[in-house]
Amino acid sequence: MTELLYQTDAYLQEFKAGVTSVLMDERAVVLDQSAFYPGGGGQPCDFGSLNVNGVEYAVDKVKKQGEDVLHFLGGTSPLPSAGAAAHGTLDWTRRYKLMRTHTALHVLCGTIFRDYGAQVTGGNMEPLKGHLDFEFETMRGELVRDIEAAINKEVHLSRDIRVNILPRDEAFQIPDLIRTKINLLPEGISHVRTIEIVGLDLQADGGTHVRNTNEVGHIRIADYKSKGAINKRIYIEVE
Ligand SMILES: [Zn+2]
Repeated sequence: MTELLYQTDAYLQEFKAGVTSVLMDERAVVLDQSAFYPGGGGQPCDFGSLNVNGVEYAVDKVKKQGEDVLHFLGGTSPLPSAGAAAHGTLDWTRRYKLMRTHTALHVLCGTIFRDYGAQVTGGNMEPLKGHLDFEFETMRGELVRDIEAAINKEVHLSRDIRVNILPRDEAFQIPDLIRTKINLLPEGISHVRTIEIVGLDLQADGGTHVRNTNEVGHIRIADYKSKGAINKRIYIEVE
């Protein structure tokens, strides 16, 4: 089982860990704790490096498997052994861009729900770019500029972002979480992690976010597409 350090400290760029198991065929190691985000919820995994006994391995893919985080090691150096001490370093430039982008998407989601009552059905992101799909029947091209102005206003309001980990029963009492389809969470989950943009948005979320909307930067609505009468996709870019 890997302790997920990014869940409580998204700003951790380096960490020490122990290698708990090694998957020879996949060139992957499981660590007892990790700051690497393994991907999920539309946020891609982190990249970086792992130093074990003086050997520097590129981490070029990270994946969650059950309660373990698998770190896939590039290159051809012999793999470390279980029990070895490791030092991990994130590609922080990439991760921080993903944090800003992920928070920007929550700003978009919260603003559109508040102003138009439209709910999100899905989304995806890469560093500084992303999109969300909404059930947003009244969306039309003329609204793009209004939405862009509204989301950037939220960024400039310097809203704090809070991470909380709640018992499942408690989370299920919160109306804002119910609207974001918290009921779709697997039954085995005993705790729910929430991301709150104070005064704007609250969601069950496993990703990494900035501390305050003022770190996001300017958000541009790059495109919008109608995917049918009800479903609309909005693309953003963070500058
Ligand atoms: Zn999210």
